[in-house]
Parts: sequence; structure tokens; C-alpha cells
Amino acid sequence: MLRVGIGYDIHRLMPGRRFVLGGVVLPAERGPLGHSDGDALLHAIVDALLGAAGLGDIGQRYPPGDPAWKDAESRLFAAETAGALRERGWRIVNIDATVVLERPKLAPHLDAMREAIAGTLGIEAGCVNVKAKTNEGLDAAGAGDAVVAHAVALLERDG
Ligand code: MG
Repeated sequence: MLRVGIGYDIHRLMPGRRFVLGGVVLPAERGPLGHSDGDALLHAIVDALLGAAGLGDIGQRYPPGDPAWKDAESRLFAAETAGALRERGWRIVNIDATVVLERPKLAPHLDAMREAIAGTLGIEAGCVNVKAKTNEGLDAAGAGDAVVAHAVALLERDG
């Protein structure tokens, strides 16, 4: 059986916050506001994985009001989600994602992000694809005030 899931996330960018994206720390003067580290890409991927498995969403599984997740590394959410999928017999076939961000430019970091995401999920880097776009100066992402991520995930299991 094959199942597909979709994920989306947006975080406001604020001065003085570390910018973590796909588990990689980016050189930037602003970073995502969030209860956790605000890693929009990992959040979108976790939602895609949970959606494909019919396990709800990231907010239900890791509630933002829970002190346990204050400033948590989103890698923990992703690793825990991957474990929950394995327990249920799911294999991650592939993940594809698009990040919308004005700056910094992501091209030099895409391979490191793929490898970090794959390593966290326990899959091959070749099963993860990350694309980057700007928003052509439009809306909050285009003004450099937000980072946006979209992701899809395909899962497979016997029966
Ligand atoms: Mg988020």
C-alpha cells in the first residue's frame, strides 16, 4: 500500500533567533520565531509524514504549549515521527520539499539539508529532495519577514 501526505509551515523571522532549516544552521541575522527551534522545513516534512500515515499533525503530537518542547530541536520531532512510522510498518519512499525564502540564498546549503534530514529520518539522502525559491519580493516571505516550507511524503507498507 502506498500513502501520500502533504505538509506546510510558516514562521516569522525575527532578529536574534538562530536560523535552523532542515536541521542545518544558516548564516543569517534573523531566524524563525517558534516555541521549538522554528525549523519550518522539518515541521512541514513531519506534517507530510504524519499525514501520509494518518497520524494527525505536528501540533497534536508535539503541542506547542508543552514545556517539554520549549526550544526543542525539531530533529527530535522528525526522529520520533520516523520511529512511529517504522513501528507501524511504514517505509519512507521519498520526500520532496520547497522552501520559500528571500535570504539567505539556500543553494549552497541544499545538499547539507538533504543529508541532515535523511540522517534524522534514517533514510538515504537520495530519498530526500529540497528545492528553494524566493517569493519575488511579494508578501511576507518576499519581504524577508517569513520562511515558508511545503513538503510531500510518500510511504509504503505491505498490506
Ligand atoms: Mg512550525
